[in-house]
Amino acid sequence: MSRRKKSNNLIISLIIFIFLCVSGYFGTDYFLENSQTENILSNEVYVTTSSNIENANEVDLNNDKLNIIFFYVGQADCTLVKLNDEVMLIDAGNNSDGENIVNFLETKNITQIDYLVGTHADEDHIGGIDDVMKNIEVEKFILPTVGSEGTDYKNAINIAKEKNILIENPTMGDNYEFGNATIEVMSAMEEEGTSDNNSSIVLELTYDITKYLFMGDAETEVENSRSWEKVNVLKVGHHGSNSSSSTKFLNQVKPQYSIIEVGKNNSYNLPSEKAIQRLQNSGTNILRTDKADGEEVGSFWLTSDGNTIDIKEVNINLDGDN
Ligand SMILES: [Zn+2]
Repeated sequence: MSRRKKSNNLIISLIIFIFLCVSGYFGTDYFLENSQTENILSNEVYVTTSSNIENANEVDLNNDKLNIIFFYVGQADCTLVKLNDEVMLIDAGNNSDGENIVNFLETKNITQIDYLVGTHADEDHIGGIDDVMKNIEVEKFILPTVGSEGTDYKNAINIAKEKNILIENPTMGDNYEFGNATIEVMSAMEEEGTSDNNSSIVLELTYDITKYLFMGDAETEVENSRSWEKVNVLKVGHHGSNSSSSTKFLNQVKPQYSIIEVGKNNSYNLPSEKAIQRLQNSGTNILRTDKADGEEVGSFWLTSDGNTIDIKEVNINLDGDN
């Protein structure tokens, strides 16, 4: 074959190939779709972190970004989510932390909470919720049905009724309006025999291209109960216990950052070495409230415009046992 024929064949092949692409032979917009899929699959956004501990009074939540604060409340959970006027509080620490949480919210001029979530009935999640409801206007109190016989649960329900707060037991797939963001209930197990931990209301927040997953104390049973999307930030389940954060789960979620809310020198020896190892193996960056700044406890303040994320360590300690 002459050189000329060869190059002619090449040109003809190229024309046919381009024609096939344009005519949709490879599926709609083959190349475009492929590159978008690539982006969605990797789902990584630009994340900046600051090693400087900022003073609590430097935290200004009056901005038009998504703000999430993962608080240090000792061996307990408390996470604030704010986007403009929309406010969600996920858990409110132990009984002894309630007052500190209320004080912090008041200093930040948060006078109203749209969604107060008690992920499950354990004291280290709903203990401080009564103080919040007594002092701050709450629109809706969201909690599971499991664990309703517990003292803290009953107490919280009584105060919610007293204050005429709407009480809601969500089911998987429920959505909450949250300004330009959406919040979906990923799990809310209520079958008979479900443990308090596995009844945790698991929430996924989507804000533009960024995703955040809040696991409560959900364990492997919940992780194995469904499929998961990739997220940018994971609030690690059950304070970094070995019974959560399975490899199978992490392989799906692939978090860029994983935040563990855990008490310094807690009696449960959390987080577990094995869970930390699995998280490390997944390639995620781990942030711990018990070691926010080296050996110092603290909170993490995340802000996002929906395309990039900034996480700062902040010198906030709302642990009431201190
Ligand atoms: Zn817990």
